[in-house]
Amino acid sequence: MRIILLGPPGAGKGTQAEVLSKHYSLAHISTGDILRESVKLGTVVGLKAKSYMEKGELVPDEVVVEIVADALKGDSVKEGFILDGFPRTEVQAAQLEGVLQEAGIGIDAVIYFKTSEEVAVARLSGRRVCSKCRAIYHAKNMPPKIDRICDKCNGKLIQRKDDEEKTVRNRLRVYDKQTAGLIDYYRTKGLLKEVSGDLDVQEVFEILKDIFAKK
Ligand code: AMP
Repeated sequence: MRIILLGPPGAGKGTQAEVLSKHYSLAHISTGDILRESVKLGTVVGLKAKSYMEKGELVPDEVVVEIVADALKGDSVKEGFILDGFPRTEVQAAQLEGVLQEAGIGIDAVIYFKTSEEVAVARLSGRRVCSKCRAIYHAKNMPPKIDRICDKCNGKLIQRKDDEEKTVRNRLRVYDKQTAGLIDYYRTKGLLKEVSGDLDVQEVFEILKDIFAKK
């Protein structure tokens, strides 16, 4: 199965991608995760991406398209993949089509996580991430057992700089302006399936399993 997860930041795409990739043994390709790792390692891509990410702006198309094209060449995607956070512009969507066409494969479904702004803001501004193993918590809804310490690896929990409320609001504006148009783009292609991103993790997962059972 080859799936795209589409929706605003804070819709729960990353969480569902984790759950789905385990359940269906699919590769999880998150451009946000790859870019954050590149920034941490100080690679050329990381240096190009850093300032955009801190402001909540999109990294230039050519940088992310190359990352995804590389990821799609690996062996881990042979059984299928989940694209989480990509494409985010029509240019990226068109270039993805070219890459897939060359590989002789297509996308089976695009899942659109329809999410209200207030839910997205509350989720992101409360999100805490383990600085060591990247496990995700929420200050109110899913706190760790010991304050600011990861249950899994004892790493320190941090707030992503771009999860501060002001930046979150900008990320949502950027999504409306640059990404929301992809909903119609994929609807026209007959690939779009809509779920409510406001529901909790298990509820969304059950709906998605039903959708994929019919594929
Ligand atoms: P995410 O974790 O998906 O919310 O991504 C975090 C940040 O990485 C975004 O705010 C962008 O700065 C950058 N980013 C991730 N994916 C893309 C993409 N497909 N196009 C451009 N920028 C991206």
